[in-house]
Amino acid sequence: MSERKAINKYIPADFDPSQIRRTKKKKSTALPTVRLMAPFSMKCSNCGDYISKSKKFNARKETTKEDYLGVKIIKFHFRCPLCSGEIVFRTDPVNADYVVEKGAVRNFLRSNVKEPEKLETLEETLDRLEKQAEQDKKEELAKQKGIHKKLNDPDEDIIVQVEKKMIEQREEQRRMDELDDLRSKNARIERIKRSEISLEDRILNDDSESLEKEIASRTREAFENKRPLEIRPDDEFSSKEAKSVKLTVTAPKRASRALINSLSGNREHYNGMPRLSLGYSSDSE
Ligand SMILES: [Zn+2]
Repeated sequence: MSERKAINKYIPADFDPSQIRRTKKKKSTALPTVRLMAPFSMKCSNCGDYISKSKKFNARKETTKEDYLGVKIIKFHFRCPLCSGEIVFRTDPVNADYVVEKGAVRNFLRSNVKEPEKLETLEETLDRLEKQAEQDKKEELAKQKGIHKKLNDPDEDIIVQVEKKMIEQREEQRRMDELDDLRSKNARIERIKRSEISLEDRILNDDSESLEKEIASRTREAFENKRPLEIRPDDEFSSKEAKSVKLTVTAPKRASRALINSLSGNREHYNGMPRLSLGYSSDSE
C-alpha cells in the first residue's frame, strides 16, 4: 500500500509537453444566476399560485441596454415554484420600484406610480435640449426688445425716472462740494487761531523782565485808579497801531492782553521781541 502514497507522479521518458493542445474555454452565453428575494407579493398568471414577498429564488440576471439617467435597467428571470412557468420582472428607476413583465400579476400596486412614459434615447435627449435652448434664446431676445422699446418711448416712465435720478445725483454732487469748501475754510481758520495762540504764549513766557514789570505796574495802576487806561501817543512803547488803542480795563488779564496788542508793532525798543500778528493775514487767503 505504501507505493500508492507516493507524492511524485510518473512522467514517461518520451513525454513531450509541446504535444499537448491548448483549447480556449468557450464563453457561456447563459445569464448569470443570482440569489434574490421576491420584492413584492404576486400571483402566477399560469397556475394562479400566490408567491409571497421575500420568497427566495435563484434568478437569472439580465442587464439590458436601456437606462434611465445612466442607471441601467436589469431584468430577472425565475420560475414559478408550483408550475415552473417563467416569471420576469425588471427594475424601474423612474419610480424606484419593480415592474412585472411576464408570467405574474402584482397583488398590490403603488398609488403614486408615474404614468409609464417612453424612455428617450441619447439622441432624443440632445434634440429636446437643443430645442429648449433655442426657445430660451428666443424668449430672451423678445424680452430685450421689449426693454428697448420701452427706452425709446418718450411717454414711458423709465426715461422720466432716469432724468430724475440724474438731477438728484447732480444736486448731491453740488452739496458735497459745498461741504468740502466749508470744511477746508474751517480748517484754515483753526490753523490761524492756533498759530496766534502759540505766538502769544511765546511772548508771555519770554524771559524779558522789563515786559513783566511793565505789565504788572500798568495792571496795578488800572486796578487802583479804576479809570480808563490810556496809552499816550508820546509813550516810549507807542507805535502807529497803539496810538488808536483806548481800553476800559476791568480785569488784569484783559489789561495785559491790551498791552501786548499795543506793544506788538515796536521792535526798536524791545530787542528780540517777536511781532504779533492778530487777525487774518492776507497771505493765507
Ligand atoms: Zn405557477
